[in-house]
Formats: sequence, structure tokens, C-alpha cells
Amino acid sequence: MLNLTGKNALVTGIANNRSIAWGIAQQLHKAGANLGITYLPDERGKMEKKVAELVEPLNPSLFLPCNVQDEDQIKSTFETIREQWGKLDILIHCLAFASKDDLSGDFSQTSRSGFNTALEISTYSLVQLSGVAKPLMTEGGSIVTLTYLGGVRAIPNYNVMGIAKAGLEMSVRYLAAELGPQNIRVNAISAGPIRTLASSAVGGILDMIHHVEEVAPLRRTVTQLEVGNAAAFLCSDLSSGITGQILYVDAGYEIMGM
Ligand code: NAD
Repeated sequence: MLNLTGKNALVTGIANNRSIAWGIAQQLHKAGANLGITYLPDERGKMEKKVAELVEPLNPSLFLPCNVQDEDQIKSTFETIREQWGKLDILIHCLAFASKDDLSGDFSQTSRSGFNTALEISTYSLVQLSGVAKPLMTEGGSIVTLTYLGGVRAIPNYNVMGIAKAGLEMSVRYLAAELGPQNIRVNAISAGPIRTLASSAVGGILDMIHHVEEVAPLRRTVTQLEVGNAAAFLCSDLSSGITGQILYVDAGYEIMGM
């Protein structure tokens, strides 16, 4: 049975009730995990308030600001986990960013700064968070990140984010190879397109969703909760033999040739 009782899980990437991370947090909570939630702080504290209200029913025992571009916030997040939890079992990396300008038009026109920012936030952050999580995963653990088919195939407008996801998927393999001897498993879920804050920045996202609804074997796209279920599985002992994998939760779209 899927049971995460006694597991401490840090969930990053909740911005609102459409976030994939919100779907994941709900399913981890349902399976009995003790949750820590991080949010991206803004100057006026609006995000903190919004996310705090949303996650309240899940009763998180930690609620912390963590901008992955800020070394001090990362350090302090994991220091708090060490002090208050003693150990970490689950890390959900569910965040990405690229400038809207770089998510439409010609890929060859991607700016240097846009390229660097997208890869720093969307790819390097997994490496960095895994590195600080590693010493806290003293009883083994599970790290799950979110990717998209645009990291293995050229999808119109996905552009620089496709490069970030390709790097992310390869990071999953290198991290899995390094952390496996400590019984820390690292996997990615490649989700089908879902309407969220981040995906609305990708040019033509609604067309992408409609195309999937027409072509995918299940004739629909997926929900945040379906991704959450797959994440809960990857975090549980039911998946104890699985690491370094990219699991497609996309209504089967990835297998289609036309
Ligand atoms: P979302 O906008 O709800 O989540 C993105 C999150 O990234 C937000 O919570 C945002 O605050 C966070 N973030 C951005 N910059 C950050 C920073 N510097 N530090 C910390 N957090 C930061 O959108 P989502 O679609 O739920 O995205 C979650 C993940 O799922 C992303 O990796 C995305 O690429 C991936 N994904 C999304 C889809 C989709 O169609 N929505 C499909 C496949 C994969």
C-alpha cells in the first residue's frame, strides 16, 4: 500500500491552486507525509500570503521562503530542516522559469542572459538542492523533478526551456548514479501540458493542449492530481527499485508518431 507516514517531504514550486506542485503536495499529504512547503518570496509578501492560505489545510510543519537564485535562502531552508526535522526523506523539485520573450519566436535569437537565467533556475537548482538535501537524507530518500517532452523533441515555442529540460533529465541520471549508493533515488515525471502560471508563458500553450486532446491515446491531457499520484508512487517504497528514470504522465502522448 502507498504509505508515506513518517516521511518528511519538502515541496517546492507552489504558486497557486493550478501549480503541479499543489497537486503533488495534496497527494503526499493524503499518503501521510509530513510536509514542508517553500514559496518564491516577493517584495510585498503577496506570494507568501497566497500560498500560506492555500496550503493551510495540508498542515505543513515548515513553511519557508526559498528563491533558488538566493544562496542564503537555500542554506537557511535546509538548516531549518536539519534543526526541526533532523532528516529529510523526500524532495519535490517542481519549479522552472524562462523569460516570456524566450518562449516564442526563433530559438536562435535567445539572449545570453535569458539562456543563463532559464538554465540556472530550471536546471541548476535541481543539482544544488539535491546537493544540500544529500547529507539530510540519512535514511535514504526520493528526489522527484518535473520535465516535459520539449526536452527530448523540438516543440514549437518551448525553445530555451527545452534545453533546460534536456539538462534537467541528464542531471537526473548523474544524480541517480551518485546518490544511489546512499539509497537516494532520483526520478523525473514528464507531464503532459497543463494550464498553469508557468505554462501560460509558453507561446501557443492552448494549441498544445488541444493537440494532445486530439492525438494522445487517452484523448485528453492530464491533471495536477494525476501527476501528484505518480509523484507519491515515486516517493514511496512501491517504487524502491526505480531510479534515474523519466516517467511519462502524459495520457500516452509520447508514444505517438503522428
Ligand atoms: P507554476 O507556475 O505553478 O510553478 C512554477 C513554480 O516555479 C512557481 O511556484 C514559481 O514560484 C517557481 N519559481 C520560479 N522561479 C523560482 C525561483 N527563482 N526560486 C524558486 N521558485 C521559483 O507552473 P507549473 O506548470 O506547475 O510548473 C512546475 C514544473 O512543472 C516546472 O518545472 C514546469 O516546467 C514543469 N512542467 C509543467 C508542465 C505544464 O504544462 N504546466 C508540463 C511539464 C512539466
